[in-house]
Amino acid sequence: MAWLHRNEEGKVMFRGLPCPYCHKSAYLWAFEKDADEYFQGSERSLGEIFPYFSVSEKEALITGICDECWKKIFGQQKSS
Ligand SMILES: [Zn+2]
Repeated sequence: MAWLHRNEEGKVMFRGLPCPYCHKSAYLWAFEKDADEYFQGSERSLGEIFPYFSVSEKEALITGICDECWKKIFGQQKSS
């Protein structure tokens, strides 16, 4: 996997799904071993692979809907 960036903590940056409404993609940071597991196809859920992800970060890999559009559509913040 070619990551967009890598930091000193051993985390890598990759792009989430494009938002279906505004077409912006979120950029996510995760530990490389976790990101590898995700992209290689895992039977574990996102919450298990990335226990440190926020609701918004997980959403970026499920639907891509960004915080701004989420608020416009649902009129409130995401909750877990
Ligand atoms: Zn959006």
